[in-house]
Amino acid sequence: MDHHYADLIIVRFGELSIKGHNRRYFVRQLQNNIKAKLKDYPLIRIFSKFDHLVLHLNGTSDEPITHALSHVFGIASFSLAHKCSNAMEDIIETAVELMKTEEACTFKVETHRKDKNLPYDSMDLNAKVGHFILEATTHKVDVKNPQKRVRIEVDRQQAYVSVKIFKGLQGFPVGVQSKAMVLISGGIDSPVAAYLTMKRGVEIEAVHFAAPPYTSSQSLEKVKQLLGVLCAYQPVIKLHVVPFTAIQLEIYQKANPSYAITLMRRQMVRFAQDLAIQRKALALITGESLGQVASQTMESMAVISEVAKMNILRPLVTYDKLEIIEIAERIKSFPISILPYEDCCTIFGVTNPITKPRLPDVIKEEEKCDFTEIYEKTLADTVTYLIEEPKPETYL
Ligand code: ATP
Ligand code: MG
Repeated sequence: MDHHYADLIIVRFGELSIKGHNRRYFVRQLQNNIKAKLKDYPLIRIFSKFDHLVLHLNGTSDEPITHALSHVFGIASFSLAHKCSNAMEDIIETAVELMKTEEACTFKVETHRKDKNLPYDSMDLNAKVGHFILEATTHKVDVKNPQKRVRIEVDRQQAYVSVKIFKGLQGFPVGVQSKAMVLISGGIDSPVAAYLTMKRGVEIEAVHFAAPPYTSSQSLEKVKQLLGVLCAYQPVIKLHVVPFTAIQLEIYQKANPSYAITLMRRQMVRFAQDLAIQRKALALITGESLGQVASQTMESMAVISEVAKMNILRPLVTYDKLEIIEIAERIKSFPISILPYEDCCTIFGVTNPITKPRLPDVIKEEEKCDFTEIYEKTLADTVTYLIEEPKPETYL
């Protein structure tokens, strides 16, 4: 073979996700997301077919492209295809060369002929290609349950041979659903909650509550880095940083300390919701998980939700911590999340937070505080940043 990069990548979308009139919209969004993801590779051309996309690499190395595609939601699988002439000996040579680089496995050859006037039929070709692969490698044939399929597609002009197939992330292309506002702390859970929501096609913006000077610029950096990780799935994420100190001080000075966390969470939801409305987001996202800490009981979530007029999505509500950590490790947010910088909640932490707050008591405590002026000022002092994916060399 005179080249070793793949010539084409075939991108398949999940069947379930492409039903009905949403299909065109879905496919267009996926195509745009892939284009945005591959913007640094100007030679690549993308074509839309009935149930797949075809990427022509035009000499671009397939490795970074494979890496990029494995970070795009809405892809069921994709495979690398190598082009050769439709002469039988050429197809055999291409298939054998490709299979030589694979680890020992069982395989099956499958041919699709788009031109019926070729001087050989599919069975012929399958048998010959299989024979030469067996001769040149230690692979074994298994037609019932092969570990690898050697797919050959032949048409009037040329043939494509494909042995490498990658599983996609599944889900829906980001952008097919409306936007949501994620409450992002520096912890382990909220980035995972954001990731899982994006997986369903939701574009996100983020809000973070900081308590300067009690929280440092490093804790803000940490949040930006976490969002940088999520930028693998959406090119730019807007981050709104709310200076929360005055609100927190008001709570700690006036209210019963056991209610402080609850009151703080209710304030967070109020701010997040106002920002969401401004930014045309339809829901809030939190990393809450039932029972994980005192503020995450059914009672607690109920009094927190009570201030919300929009949906609060809690994708982790039923997840165990270990399940959450597994995802955090997979998406590489975990090492950032465990960096030891303080969070606004840890600084004002209380030792005996109420675990089953009743709404009338919460309201009574809330009424001891006067947020009217601080609220407007805090909202006005909110700063917005645009977060983008860091270049590879700056990864942790
Ligand atoms: P995480 O790991 O996401 O910090 P957690 O288990 O520490 O979650 P809490 O600290 O109780 O849980 O916070 C619950 C949720 O409230 C978080 O997942 C996040 O969505 C939101 N939240 C908490 N602190 C902040 C903050 N400083 N800024 C924005 N959102 C926050
Ligand atoms: Mg936290």
